[in-house]
Amino acid sequence: MKIEIKLIPDGLDLAKEIQDGMPVDRMEESEEGFTCPIATQDVETNEENQRYAIKEDQYGPAINPETSCGECRYFNISPEMQQCMKDESGEVGYCQLLKFMCSAANSCAEFEEGGPITSVDYE
Ligand code: SF4
Repeated sequence: MKIEIKLIPDGLDLAKEIQDGMPVDRMEESEEGFTCPIATQDVETNEENQRYAIKEDQYGPAINPETSCGECRYFNISPEMQQCMKDESGEVGYCQLLKFMCSAANSCAEFEEGGPITSVDYE
């Protein structure tokens, strides 16, 4: 018998994910302002979700800069997110798909063009 242990990003319902596709983590706005994603505030969650990205989506150094996280539509470097991440270099962004803080110079199998996200008002 083979037992496989998978690391699933926080709050993911795998059955639903397979059916609907991976949910995108958008910043929620409330009366108090914007809510920071858990992975930007909790090191363990961030590391867990990063391990998932490495294992399941081959997250690692980009071979082609044009398909790097920094150019990806899920890479959020809006001023609000940079405050959450406490990093304003632009080299670190929050991956709204895989829910961890990734490096602009890296990439993964889920890359989609159209990024980065530089404002909370985006589609
Ligand atoms: S989905 Fe995009 S931003 Fe997220 S790790 Fe992959 S390439 Fe980077």
